[in-house]
Amino acid sequence: MPESCDILISGGGIAGLTAAAAFGSAGFRVICVDPAPPVTERDVDGSDLRTTAFLQPAQGLLESCGLWARLADHAAPLQIMRIVDAGGDLPEPRVVREFNAADLSDKPFGWNLPNWLLRREMVARLAEMPNVDFRPGTATTSLFTRTAEARVGLSDGSRVQARLVVAADGRGSPMREAAGIAVHTTRYGQKALAFAVTHPIAHQNVSTEIHRSGGPFTLVPLPDWQGQPSSAIVWMERGPQALELLAMEPAVFETAMTERSCGLFGPLKLASRRTIWPIISQQAERLAGERIALMAEAAHVVPPIGAQGLNMSLGDLRCLLDLAQARPEGLGDAAMLAAYHKARHAEIALRVKGIDLLNRASMVEARPLRDARAMGLNALYSLAPVRRTLMQMGLGVR
Ligand SMILES: Cc1cc2nc3c(=O)[nH]c(=O)nc-3n(C[C@H](O)[C@H](O)[C@H](O)COP(=O)(O)OP(=O)(O)OC[C@H]3O[C@@H](n4cnc5c(N)ncnc54)[C@H](O)[C@@H]3O)c2cc1C
Repeated sequence: MPESCDILISGGGIAGLTAAAAFGSAGFRVICVDPAPPVTERDVDGSDLRTTAFLQPAQGLLESCGLWARLADHAAPLQIMRIVDAGGDLPEPRVVREFNAADLSDKPFGWNLPNWLLRREMVARLAEMPNVDFRPGTATTSLFTRTAEARVGLSDGSRVQARLVVAADGRGSPMREAAGIAVHTTRYGQKALAFAVTHPIAHQNVSTEIHRSGGPFTLVPLPDWQGQPSSAIVWMERGPQALELLAMEPAVFETAMTERSCGLFGPLKLASRRTIWPIISQQAERLAGERIALMAEAAHVVPPIGAQGLNMSLGDLRCLLDLAQARPEGLGDAAMLAAYHKARHAEIALRVKGIDLLNRASMVEARPLRDARAMGLNALYSLAPVRRTLMQMGLGVR
């Protein structure tokens, strides 16, 4: 007899671990599997040095699944989002516009946390829950569904019977493939370097996105590191340039990144390894199949702009959780999954398209296009209601 549970989560990345904590806290019996044991320390091989900026609406969800209390002390608040156009002849700011969270509420836009630390705290939270079984080192290998249940084969040779399979197994999602759901992918020929820096000028909780060409250069506040102000950087460039930057001697790289940052924080110093990530846009044609729901990068991938990636994934999770709690007896049935697809698909498509446009605008090389981008930023910013709407849309509250 296969083992049984309510929800089998394929994938224990940040999205899958959060889903396990959320469904577990709501009382469902959860099994979560991932072939790669989570790396929960900063300075070891394989650690994920990206950070996640959790936007305001995420806080409630993280609180309800017992995660926020573990994370709050490590989180750097994001009070101001600054957008800089440096597309002139020299890498200097020529348009600088600031969006202040105080224009919307008394809360910051969000909070930034390192991914390796998120994994550490999430795994610790799952260990507290008797109804959640997290199995690192185990992969899903096959999917067989019927109207009433799914049977999932695991890499240890066992099988699990579940009412709902949640595919949170990344952009190449094996469970999405097993369910026969196609994806549309856009490639930009771009890569992102992600790493941490220290700098002499304090960030004052300002997140800064600098546009020149090749893609945005973004500094997101982190708590001080070894007594110095610190930020996480995501530097997007065309592939060959990104590989060159990755291979540079640290001192040469530091000069290059200080120039790309327009010197806004003084000389930047590397405070971690450099990691590199391919950049694509991708959306699944459907968000669900029989007894399976896709979430996070299994469902949608966007370039890292405006902290949308994981925050869209939490939107998926919130929707699935609401549907599951509203009608627990219908967990994973056709009505629930149709409602999930309907609630999320158009919203995701809109965000994937919007971020695609922003990324293309940030990549442009030709000077007239860069000038048009600077004018566009000015025009949008100068209209107060548009500015407010943009901020709300960025947070996912509109
Ligand atoms: C440079 C960069 C910066 C970013 N910054 C932000 C940000 O500031 N804010 C934000 O909201 N988002 C950000 N994102 C996006 C965010 O990192 C992702 O959306 C997020 O990590 C979601 O990942 P995931 O859990 O869906 O996928 P992954 O992290 O890819 O996790 C998928 C997991 O599935 C596992 N898996 C694979 N095959 C199987 C199998 N057969 N069985 C079981 N498990 C399997 C893998 O081992 C992996 O652990 C950024 C992305 C990049 C590239």
